Amino acid sequence: MIQIDNLFVKYDNLNILEDINLQMAEGSVCAVIGPSGCGKSTLLNILAGINHDYEGKVFINGMKPSPKKQTIGFIPQNYGLLPWLKVKDNIMLGLNIKHKNNSQIPMDLIDSLGLNKLLNRYPKELSGGQQQRVSLARAFALKADLLLMDEPFSALDAITREEMQDVFINLWQQQNVTTVLVTHYVEEALYLGQKIVVMTATPGKVYKIIDNPLFAD
Ligand code: ADP
Ligand code: ADP
Repeated sequence: MIQIDNLFVKYDNLNILEDINLQMAEGSVCAVIGPSGCGKSTLLNILAGINHDYEGKVFINGMKPSPKKQTIGFIPQNYGLLPWLKVKDNIMLGLNIKHKNNSQIPMDLIDSLGLNKLLNRYPKELSGGQQQRVSLARAFALKADLLLMDEPFSALDAITREEMQDVFINLWQQQNVTTVLVTHYVEEALYLGQKIVVMTATPGKVYKIIDNPLFAD
């Protein structure tokens, strides 16, 4: 579970994130929505353990975020594939870091994402949707403690976006990985997020936290 208490981030004495207090349950998807510049990416970078420049308390399963101590998957808006690596090597990137090059290629995941025939291609030879599948394969292969997604589907056309949201749900249901999804699509937040955090414009504060009624049981 993720616990954030009294988080403040400043750049040049200007508050970027102001007094963020949040709890995210283990194995849930939390969607964060808010205007451009409100600090969503900053929040993700803190959770990823790559931005330590903050005040307040941030814990992932009781520990400070650290890419060395936790396995953290990251899916950025532009898929984050390395153009000089083939699909199979892009998929293996995170696993090879985690297991020091002793990993099997995750064929079941590759099968379920329909990537078998694309393994020897380079990212530029793939459609946007296909690149997104590679990015998802790379992240889910990690069996991460935490999955961070920064506008993951925003570069896709509307039809592919809806298709990829369902692909994500399918993968997520198999692993139940705790996920923080940053999106500016309200429909996407409602479709994927059990909890929806609405942020204000700069300085980014939590305006409202909504327990998504579409997930009520
Ligand atoms: P969002 O993801 O919600 O669009 P960001 O987290 O990218 O917001 O940025 C929040 C604010 O912080 C923006 O006003 C941005 O210009 C500013 N910002 C981000 N990174 C830096 C930095 N390294 N130095 C100074 N200002 C920054
Ligand atoms: P989408 O409808 O998902 O956007 P595209 O029209 O981009 O798909 O691509 C359709 C097909 O063409 C895909 O199967 C993809 O593998 C192939 N393709 C796209 N771009 C290239 C390329 N630069 N080189 C080789 N094949 C490509």
